[in-house]
Amino acid sequence: SKFVTIKAHIVGQPSESDFEVREHLVPLSVSPGSNDVVVKNLYLSVDPYQINRVKEHSASQSAISFAFRLAPGDRIDAYGVGRVVASANPGFEKDDVVVGLLHWSEYSVVGGESMLSKVDSKEFPLSYHASVLGLSGFTAYAGFHCVCKPKKGEKVFVSAASGSVGSVFGQYAKLHGCYVVGCAGSQKKVDLLKGKLGFDDAFNYKTESSDLKSALKRYFPEGIDVYFDNVGAEMLEAAVANMNTNGRVAVCGVISEYTNAQKRAAPDFLDIIYKRITLQGFLAGDYLQQYFPEFFSVTSDLLRNGKICALEDVSPGLESVPSAFCGLFRGDNVGKKLVRVAHE
Ligand code: NDP
Repeated sequence: SKFVTIKAHIVGQPSESDFEVREHLVPLSVSPGSNDVVVKNLYLSVDPYQINRVKEHSASQSAISFAFRLAPGDRIDAYGVGRVVASANPGFEKDDVVVGLLHWSEYSVVGGESMLSKVDSKEFPLSYHASVLGLSGFTAYAGFHCVCKPKKGEKVFVSAASGSVGSVFGQYAKLHGCYVVGCAGSQKKVDLLKGKLGFDDAFNYKTESSDLKSALKRYFPEGIDVYFDNVGAEMLEAAVANMNTNGRVAVCGVISEYTNAQKRAAPDFLDIIYKRITLQGFLAGDYLQQYFPEFFSVTSDLLRNGKICALEDVSPGLESVPSAFCGLFRGDNVGKKLVRVAHE
């Protein structure tokens, strides 16, 4: 069966030619007592953080552990939804639909319940379990309720706002009664934010790149209370310059820095001190055990009542994984980028 791997560690922006599709043998049966579950992958996620596992690392990036990195030829772990083909684990049986850490491959052999959970395959499209009801949606939820904790009426800014995490975060903030402005990389995305997603305002950061600080001043004449950062670098600096006293910045991701080792946010620390700004990085995984059930029930209800919109961008076939992934760094995707590897 097929899987996607890297030819060599990636330098700079990823391109399709950095990847290749290889074949390997996956046993479609399991040996009793092994605890293994064989999964036919249906929807696979492509995520910006994966670049940090497959890129060439500089010595300064020491926080990213060596074990986290992958080598050329390795299978690449990826979150996704699949159907159980065979199971030696008593928690799963053939035809169960599961979500969890799979691979960019047609089939995955996964070692038991720690990595997988069963999903109800009836109520929502299966893809939702890898998007709005999966880790992306959860990241927005944890960022909102555990990190930023906005109050009604507060002024909230979101970057990469039409993306997978940003679009859900912005919608939670609107439902909570905040004033929400998002930025994104095209007019089409700006229209989507102001239209379908109901943001109060939105702008194209590419056309404002000569002076992001003044742009934010225009969109937030009364200052920003909460900034949900997905991009880092200049936008983080500009946001800090426009934060109000006691403002909170949740650093969810810094996608503009992942592929450019020279790029580093250098916010004004005097601003941070005098305005008592809290700048907090977070990992959604830390909150999973405690908050996932609550997130799932709240977000399912919002979906049922049409209060939240699930944005998905699906490409067909395992071969489209490289272009889907590279597209994240070009801004090709609108909403959660997924690859449909097989039909349900
Ligand atoms: P998105 O769906 O938002 O896709 C990435 C988007 O980022 C692109 O569509 C593009 O949109 C924007 N982008 C790409 N390159 C740049 C750039 N150089 N400068 C500014 N914007 C850029 O991805 P996700 O929602 O999955 O992830 C968003 C962020 O959240 C990432 O930084 C990711 O690493 C992080 N993350 C963090 C987690 C955590 O636990 N802390 C968990 C999951 C995600 P545009 O057209 O607007 O440029």
